[in-house]
Amino acid sequence: LRSPCRVFHEHPRLLASDLYSQYESVRRGEQEMPKYFNFASDVLDKWSEIEKAGKRPSNPAFWWINGKGGEVKWSFEELGFLSRKVANVLTKVCGLQKGDRIVVILPRIPEWWLVNVACMRAGIVLIPGISQLTAKDILYRLQASKATCIITNDTLAPAVDSVASECQFLKTKLIVSKGSREGWLNFTELYKNQSADHSCVKTSIQDPACIFFTSGTTGSPKMAEHSQSSLGFRPLLSERYWLDLTPSDIIWNTADTGWILTSLASLFDPWVFGSCIFIHHLPQIESAAILNTLSRHPVGTLVGAPTLFRMLVQNDLSSYKFMNLKHCVSGGEPVNPEVMEQWKSKTGLDIHEIYGQTETGIICSVFKGMKIKPGSMGKAAPFYDVQIIDKNANILPPGQEGEIAVRNKPIRPLGFFSKYIDNPKKTAASERGDFFVTGDRGTMDEDGYFWFIGRDDDIIISSGYRIGPFEVESALTEHPAVAETAVVSSPDPLRGEVVKAFVVLSSTFSCGDLESLALELQEHVKKTTAPYKYPRKMEFVQQLPKTATGKIKRNELRNKEWGRM
Ligand code: ATP
Ligand code: MG
Repeated sequence: LRSPCRVFHEHPRLLASDLYSQYESVRRGEQEMPKYFNFASDVLDKWSEIEKAGKRPSNPAFWWINGKGGEVKWSFEELGFLSRKVANVLTKVCGLQKGDRIVVILPRIPEWWLVNVACMRAGIVLIPGISQLTAKDILYRLQASKATCIITNDTLAPAVDSVASECQFLKTKLIVSKGSREGWLNFTELYKNQSADHSCVKTSIQDPACIFFTSGTTGSPKMAEHSQSSLGFRPLLSERYWLDLTPSDIIWNTADTGWILTSLASLFDPWVFGSCIFIHHLPQIESAAILNTLSRHPVGTLVGAPTLFRMLVQNDLSSYKFMNLKHCVSGGEPVNPEVMEQWKSKTGLDIHEIYGQTETGIICSVFKGMKIKPGSMGKAAPFYDVQIIDKNANILPPGQEGEIAVRNKPIRPLGFFSKYIDNPKKTAASERGDFFVTGDRGTMDEDGYFWFIGRDDDIIISSGYRIGPFEVESALTEHPAVAETAVVSSPDPLRGEVVKAFVVLSSTFSCGDLESLALELQEHVKKTTAPYKYPRKMEFVQQLPKTATGKIKRNELRNKEWGRM
């Protein structure tokens, strides 16, 4: 393997730690990538040693609360001890071996982190799933992934049982539960009694570590395989870092455990930097609980989907004083500039936008200290040569709209997925010339900042004009009556298609006359963007269709408009 970074700047913080200094020559491009790497033995166990030597602040490595008085705090050493026990459950009791696949559908409970680390120790490939999955979704995941083991809790076990007979590869079911369930091994009991003696397996840097299902915003979720290098090794080489953490930092990411963002922001990236991962186990994302937690706990970095911030700014924030919050990060879908502005005016804090995909990891980011241009996703992240290209893979100049693409030849960026599992066609279709194409459209400005226009399929072409939904949505969100909105194309006999906005009204806004409000909103958009982009059709709705990860499903609304449901 060639080193992905030939010219690299020194990062004083990274160089300070024993853990990073050994990769310095790789970072400089003077040495090849190591052949073997295992996140558990090469990072977590190293932190355990650093901690033992008194060279790490007394922060826990993991800090979990449930809001009802329950609390768990682990040092790196405790994490090592407990995860070795779990590794023994998986290997000795369940018979799983290196390369076997396990589906893990657990809410934000400490066991999720233990199972993750245990899988690294044993070389088992972990497939996380979100807690809102239905029986049908679980069946799809078990069949597609050919996983031989599943671990879940009482809530989802009945759904698994209802489809288990159709999953010919599934051999073992593990339940995290206080009680027993027929046909299931009790994880909680088994792990208590296991020995903590376990030797970490040797994994090659390219061995698969996790398989993530994409969000399924545009169709069936795809299985993206990530390796030891794309997840755990990448942050060791990053000199400019999207989270900018140190060992004394505490980070809280509110995303569900089934999403790659949680693996990055609540596992690999903070632990590479020896930081503390904070979790509030909330059954539902609830503003008051989140604001209270930020007021009572020293969380310094908050990561959440834009929906989280859209929800938080709807509250009167003057009654909360955050204990230590300094850095906010959001992405996964566009962050509306209006929401950024409101958050800034109410809390004094900026929202740093990130842009990425399950397949690619974080491609662009507004890094700490960088000038913020509201509405922009920031600049290319380390290892990624991001460009705007045309149909023939030609790079377009600044300001010109095209497809957002990442150069993946001759060197595949560190952080990239290995492939779509069992789908060589899809893997091949995502490549064009020397680039991986994201399927998203955008522009880059003269300063190298990227601006999202929309998913390829979401672009509206009306009377020959190309209109990205995000800009119209952002304009609408600026109006105090609008809490959330989704903009899609709708058929029109004259123009072919026109812009239609689905609008959820803000709870604090009461309006009897929706017809005149619609006119007012249309006028508002005409004033704030190019007038031809204004929504000619408007519908007020109670809620918008979303994926389980909270993303607006514009394709569902669009299909309805076009009678394709
Ligand atoms: P599927 O591929 O199954 O249809 P998905 O693309 O939503 O689902 P993810 O990999 O979770 O699955 O999401 C990546 C996509 O999310 C990106 O391609 C982009 O469309 C969108 N996205 C992520 N971050 C941002 C951002 N900051 N601004 C705009 N869009 C974003
Ligand atoms: Mg996608």
